[in-house]
Amino acid sequence: MAGVCSLCGEPAMNTCKLCGRLACDRCVEPRTGICLACFRKGGEAHPDVSGGRVLR
Ligand SMILES: [Zn+2]
Ligand SMILES: [Zn+2]
Repeated sequence: MAGVCSLCGEPAMNTCKLCGRLACDRCVEPRTGICLACFRKGGEAHPDVSGGRVLR
């Protein structure tokens, strides 16, 4: 096991490309490879994901 998600504590196999922290499949944007914490801060740079999943 690679580690646990920094956001929710689930087993994680993804590494955020921006902050480098571990994130599970549910806490990372697969298209961009960044975690939701970074995605909600600055993910707007990727027009691909701006119209996608909305958390709140
Ligand atoms: Zn998670
Ligand atoms: Zn991140």
